[in-house]
Amino acid sequence: MNISFEGKRILVTGAGQGIGKDLALHLSRAKATVIALSKTKENLDALTKLDPTIQTVCVNLRDWNMTQKAVESVLPIDLLVNNAGVACLKPFVNATLEDCDLTFDVNVKSIVSVSQVVVKDMIRRKVSGSIVNVSSQASHCALKDHAIYCASKGAVDMLTKTMALELGPHNIRVNTVNPTVVMTEMGKLGWSDANKAKEMLSKIPLGRFAEIKEVNDAIVFLLSDYSSMTTGAAFPVEGGFLAA
Ligand code: NAP
Repeated sequence: MNISFEGKRILVTGAGQGIGKDLALHLSRAKATVIALSKTKENLDALTKLDPTIQTVCVNLRDWNMTQKAVESVLPIDLLVNNAGVACLKPFVNATLEDCDLTFDVNVKSIVSVSQVVVKDMIRRKVSGSIVNVSSQASHCALKDHAIYCASKGAVDMLTKTMALELGPHNIRVNTVNPTVVMTEMGKLGWSDANKAKEMLSKIPLGRFAEIKEVNDAIVFLLSDYSSMTTGAAFPVEGGFLAA
């Protein structure tokens, strides 16, 4: 999607690989100043080799205080994409305390810690803004072996609605994108098995998984003024999975 973000500073979390990496490169080509946040330095180094204009922040989002300090150091931010995520996939009865803590720390709590810093500064500067939280079709629909992940994405959707409610009066919009399977490292974790993939594909009316670009086109739309009356919404990028 060819929308210019000239003059905008955009923070993308989880930009070391997968959806976030591609998004950071796209937004930089669209003339934004991009700040890419992730936890593995080698991945961020690889990103800046591809595009030296992208600034990087290396921090583990599980550390609330370090994360808030790191985000404060790159203010002001005009547009934010909370994309970082993890998936611990196993039967519900085998899920551990560590699985629950890791998943909720990264998928849910980091949205709170990062957004608080960004939003307080937007309100102080009296500027409008747009935040996109990367959720999943798994927030709407139970998937086998995804109990903790599904619960975390359900929390992301409701957190997003509440943020939209409270931040709307400040002209700060907050939405989610909710993709189906995308064959990133995370996607491969759950869906490399041909039989599992076949079963999932049979439930997607368009008959295929999403491409990274299709997820990022939706994010770009929600970041941009083309969606200026949309807030608190969950934008499906799932080939009709949730309609079936
Ligand atoms: P991915 O390829 O595994 O990339 C995840 C990114 O998140 C990586 O850059 C990773 O950092 C970062 N991250 C994870 N834990 C972190 C932490 N503690 N601190 C800082 N950064 C951390 O995953 P993806 O498929 O692109 O997923 C992106 C988002 O899309 C996630 O929210 C995911 O839930 C959602 N989603 C994915 C799918 C799918 O099928 N792939 C479907 C629906 C929704 P490092 O590079 O440092 O490892």
